Amino acid sequence: MDLKSLIRDIPDFPKPGILFRDITTLLRDAEGLRYITDLFAEKCVDLRPEFVVGMESRGFIFGSLLAYKLGAGFIPVRKKGKLPGAVYSIEYALEYGKDCLEIHQDALQADSRVLIVDDLIATGGTATATADLIVKIGCELVGFGFIIELQDLQGRKNLPDVPIISLVQY
Ligand code: IMP
Repeated sequence: MDLKSLIRDIPDFPKPGILFRDITTLLRDAEGLRYITDLFAEKCVDLRPEFVVGMESRGFIFGSLLAYKLGAGFIPVRKKGKLPGAVYSIEYALEYGKDCLEIHQDALQADSRVLIVDDLIATGGTATATADLIVKIGCELVGFGFIIELQDLQGRKNLPDVPIISLVQY
C-alpha cells in the first residue's frame, strides 16, 4: 500500500517554513488504518513489550492500536498538569523554550518491558525525554516505534541504543 499517498502535507503549519505531515487522512481511511496497524504490529512483535507508552496526543492513537494488537497494556505520557494521579515529570528543550511531560508514578513497575510509540520522530527530543522517564523508573526500554521518521533531522542519533522502527520515511 502507498502509505505516503494517505499522509497529507500541509505547508507552513504550525508556523511558516514547516511542512507538517498530517496523519488524520491516514486515520480516516479504513483500509489504510488497518494496514498500518497490522504492519506496525508485525514489525514490533519480536520486541515483546509488556507495555506500550504513547505520547500525547497522536502517540495515544497508534500506541493504543499497537498495544491491542500485541496484547500489551497502554500507558499515556501527557503534557504537564493533565494526569490526575501522582506523576513523575521531565522537562526537555524545544527549539524555543521548553516543555514538560508526565507519567503516573504507579503506571509502571521497575523491570517492565516498555515500547515507546509516537506518530512521528523529528529531532527526537520528545522520544528522548520519554525514554529518560521510563529508564529513571527502572524499566527495560525494548524499543521505539514511529509511523513517520523525518530522516533529515537525524532524530534517531539522539535516542538510546535500542531498536527503532519507523514505517514511512521522508
Ligand atoms: P521531535 O521531538 O522533534 O522528535 O518532534 C516529534 C513530536 O512533534 C511528535 O510528538 C510529533 O507528533 C510532533 N511533530 C513534529 N512534526 C510533526 C509533523 O510534521 N506532523 C505530525 N507531528 C509532528
